[in-house]
Amino acid sequence: MLTDRINTLSESITIAISTLAGELKAQGKDIISFSAGEPDFDTPRVIKDAAIAAINDGFTKYTAVDGIPALKAAIANKLKRDNNLTYAPNQIITNNGAKHSLFNLFAAVIQKGDEAIIPSPYWVTYPELVLYYGGTVVEIETHDDNAFKITPQQLQDALTPKTKMIVLTSPSNPTGAVYSRAELEALGKVLEGTDVIVASDEMYEKLIYDGEFTSSAAVSEDMYKRTVTINGLSKSVAMTGWRFGYMAAYNTELIQATKKLQSQSTSNINSITQKAAIAGLDGSADDDIEMMRVAFKERRDEAVKLINAIDGLSVYKPDGAFYLFVNIKELSNDSMEFCKQLLEKKGVAVVPGVGFGSEGYFRFSFATDIESIRKGIKRIEEFVEELK
Ligand code: PLP
Repeated sequence: MLTDRINTLSESITIAISTLAGELKAQGKDIISFSAGEPDFDTPRVIKDAAIAAINDGFTKYTAVDGIPALKAAIANKLKRDNNLTYAPNQIITNNGAKHSLFNLFAAVIQKGDEAIIPSPYWVTYPELVLYYGGTVVEIETHDDNAFKITPQQLQDALTPKTKMIVLTSPSNPTGAVYSRAELEALGKVLEGTDVIVASDEMYEKLIYDGEFTSSAAVSEDMYKRTVTINGLSKSVAMTGWRFGYMAAYNTELIQATKKLQSQSTSNINSITQKAAIAGLDGSADDDIEMMRVAFKERRDEAVKLINAIDGLSVYKPDGAFYLFVNIKELSNDSMEFCKQLLEKKGVAVVPGVGFGSEGYFRFSFATDIESIRKGIKRIEEFVEELK
């Protein structure tokens, strides 16, 4: 009954862990979860107020498919102010979350015979989308000993005449690695003379603790022309449930193609979310963004210190996002089993690295309060002791 296309999709391996965590919680067990991919903070007041005003003003009807002009102007201003990137309204489209942006982008450019380069560990959705659209995934492996970043040589080696796209995620989910301007420039040089599209997922842009953030498109004219910048507000202003994301690209044809797809599928994104998103982009929520960033930084420092003090575990200190990708290779090469046992025996939920394409690690999200972080890592320490 089902199509071959839909059968290429697999359920996320991480669902197994969340389901188990839910079952144990329902049984009354004391579970501490570090598996969430969303901030534990509330959406800032100023954003909620904008949404409430939109409802009260009756802003509740269909809008332009790609977003209202005021929202697109707010996105263009944000990209100019924060990233030094210039885009016209027809080079920008809003979507139902950055995940939807990626879905539409891959629909527009990936087909059978195309190769998409995806550095691993990766955010789970990228390879699934490539396969869904009939493309082939070409992984470039990274490890904690090279700060989870690909080198220009690795990129050079992965390129073939079939390469259609490379996905860059900086800061990264699941590792928190952030590419510097010089590193992006060097990767950009390798791509010169090719038609390769860079899908630059910048969702965690506002969560930087050391160094600074650079947009892929901002490092050279050549990179500006080949890059599709994908961003949203889920992580920066805790708007995961509102569903807002966007794409911007020099290539107008590409953006207009995704608009056509959107016009025949979801149409415009929620009108109220659009008004709220303006407040998330125009600087009104900057104090809230900074408050969250400072809290995340403190949690990162504490979690990294405590985990690195555990004999048998080690973790690369990430420059951004809210994840640690913890190396368990001294203890296990079966991260799924390790995480299941940790959950069953100690009530701690973390996500197996194998779900992100890298065995021998687990992902620990520090988007939770510092007391739970201390308590949970203590339990991890006990678990590791008992393994020996
Ligand atoms: N990109 C990355 C790297 C993510 O981690 C996520 C969410 O987990 C997304 C995109 C999608 O975010 P949303 O669809 O909520 O905008």
